[in-house]
Amino acid sequence: MKLRRFFGFGKDEEPAPQQGQVAVEAPPPSPAAEPSQEEAQAGFFDRMRQAVTRTRESLGERLEEIAASGKEIDADALDELEAVLLSADLGTTTTAEVLERLRRKIDSREVGDRDALKRQLQHEILEILRSTPQKHVKAPEGEPEVVMVVGVNGTGKTTSIGKLAYEMRREGKKVLLCAADTFRAAAIDQLEIWGKRTGTEVVKTKPGGDPAAVIFDGLQSAKAKDVDYVIVDTAGRLHTKSNLMQELDKMRRTAAKVIPSAPHETLLVMDATTGQNGLQQARQFTQAAGVTGIILTKLDGTAKGGVVVAISRELGLPVRFVGVGEKAGDLMPFDPEAFVEGLFS
Ligand code: GDP
Repeated sequence: MKLRRFFGFGKDEEPAPQQGQVAVEAPPPSPAAEPSQEEAQAGFFDRMRQAVTRTRESLGERLEEIAASGKEIDADALDELEAVLLSADLGTTTTAEVLERLRRKIDSREVGDRDALKRQLQHEILEILRSTPQKHVKAPEGEPEVVMVVGVNGTGKTTSIGKLAYEMRREGKKVLLCAADTFRAAAIDQLEIWGKRTGTEVVKTKPGGDPAAVIFDGLQSAKAKDVDYVIVDTAGRLHTKSNLMQELDKMRRTAAKVIPSAPHETLLVMDATTGQNGLQQARQFTQAAGVTGIILTKLDGTAKGGVVVAISRELGLPVRFVGVGEKAGDLMPFDPEAFVEGLFS
């Protein structure tokens, strides 16, 4: 696998130094400190393996037991497999589909024993993850790329925005944060803390202000200052769902007034520890908010990492990034091969 650049949202130009900013927590690394392609890849796979430890212990090790407990594939083996997939949170629909695919392989005698069954399962999961359509729109040359971040409060939205800004800055990009979750004063404060940590300007208004106005100001400022990426924080309160969706829609329309192709990416933040409940919330957002990809947080804290497969299969959305801890550097671009290898080996 060739490791992608962290973003690859569309821009791939030379690093542009950010001017007039406070010292950042992680200055762009010097070329001499860069690991080789092979080292970077091995390190990346190791980190992903580490992040899915709990899921591997639940899924991978139980699969190992199934594989080791007899040569024949009988009804029991498939029942056990079903229970394991459900407990890893693949969900009923995705689990049923995976089992159906496996049954076809067994019927056609392409899979003959339990060991082969495990290998085929690995293959089917990888296939589902690889075939998820990518929905990203490129920003025209010279225009800032606008990334809207949506999701329910508590999922790790603000932290993920901070982590994204951190990685973008490490790649030498000029970033602007838009504090459009004006509903929670704490959200604006928290974003400002991330702005300071990453040396990133934050555009904000007073608590209770109009989120669309913040976006308008933010995008105009970004255009004037040759910013590469604008990351927009949005409100995530669920109890006024229809208002929230209207608000998100208004924000999208406002963004398009300043940059017609914006937003270029709308990332929904999902908490992996909420599993299938999170999937239900995600459906509500994807219908109304034009979501193009998922940031799945707290993968490090759950044995239910199989929800990644359910997201890809049932929402038809790519997992773009996974949160693997609370620190600034604990965000990884999602890679199907690294994920599946981390689960099964
Ligand atoms: P928001 O309300 O959605 O903005 O959520 P926050 O960004 O404030 O995050 C809620 C909590 O989740 C905080 O304690 C974060 O440190 C924690 N958190 C966020 N992402 C991750 C992650 O990937 N792994 C872990 N272990 N904790 C995370």
